[in-house]
Amino acid sequence: MSKFAWVTLTTNDTYSLGALVLAHSLKRAKTAHQLAVLVSPNVSQAMRDRLKEVYNVVQEVNVLDSQDAANLALLSRPELGVTFTKLHCWRLVQFEKCVFLDADTLVLQNCDELFEREELSAAPDVSWPDCFNSGVFVFKPSVDTFAQITEFAVKNGSFDGGDQGLLNQFFADWSTADIKKHLPFVYNVTAYASYCYLPAFKQFRDKIKILHFAGKLKPWLIQFNSETKVASVSSEYAHAQDLIQLWWNIFCENVIQSLSTEMCLCLNI
Ligand code: UDP
Ligand code: MN
Repeated sequence: MSKFAWVTLTTNDTYSLGALVLAHSLKRAKTAHQLAVLVSPNVSQAMRDRLKEVYNVVQEVNVLDSQDAANLALLSRPELGVTFTKLHCWRLVQFEKCVFLDADTLVLQNCDELFEREELSAAPDVSWPDCFNSGVFVFKPSVDTFAQITEFAVKNGSFDGGDQGLLNQFFADWSTADIKKHLPFVYNVTAYASYCYLPAFKQFRDKIKILHFAGKLKPWLIQFNSETKVASVSSEYAHAQDLIQLWWNIFCENVIQSLSTEMCLCLNI
């Protein structure tokens, strides 16, 4: 068994849909490594059973919440306080090294080479490239590091109220200390923002390794026609239609058959 693992997090059954599609995307990309998912108590037993079918480890964790309403309001994302729960990933000490992936990411090509990188390696955030985006990062599990980050969080909070602000404050020298810790953008391509630079998107489209549906509009919230198997996006997001469709194609081919009709109705899919 590999000592390396891909790790994600879900605090409810809806984000779990993302975690299921993500796991299948990793398997399609033929990763040699293990898959682990952190679940909070809110995730239903039925959903945990589905997650167990694809994840080697389904680890229950308690919710850590920044409760920083003011900064989260600046982001217009009140729901992101719970992303502090991500910190539990450092407690997965049965693994030597891990790569954390948000549940709203999709792996398009094998990226096992990421495990050659050191903590903390991540790609720049598109909105402020001197910060890393915390949707994809390489880390080394350690109970000491977990204790240090949580202590730091209690003392200093997070400048954006979510995990990304906190981790950027904790790993504060990321932008200057070691270029090897800067992952190329292809490891965390923000699906909605990449179209700000269309010629680059066209030039490098085939090199994308990991897509990230960062932002409010998650693929599982998009209207999907189960007969035509086409996801229909509003004109505002039309530029990302083909990327959203990729997510739905995996959902249809690998996930939907494992969900009961009752679950689909509950989740509005
Ligand atoms: N997350 C979760 N439940 C929530 C919000 C977030 O499980 O209610 C987890 C999930 O893994 C998600 C990650 O935290 O991918 C970060 O949140 P999100 O992806 O929504 O943030 P964004 O990438 O849009 O900034
Ligand atoms: Mn995300």
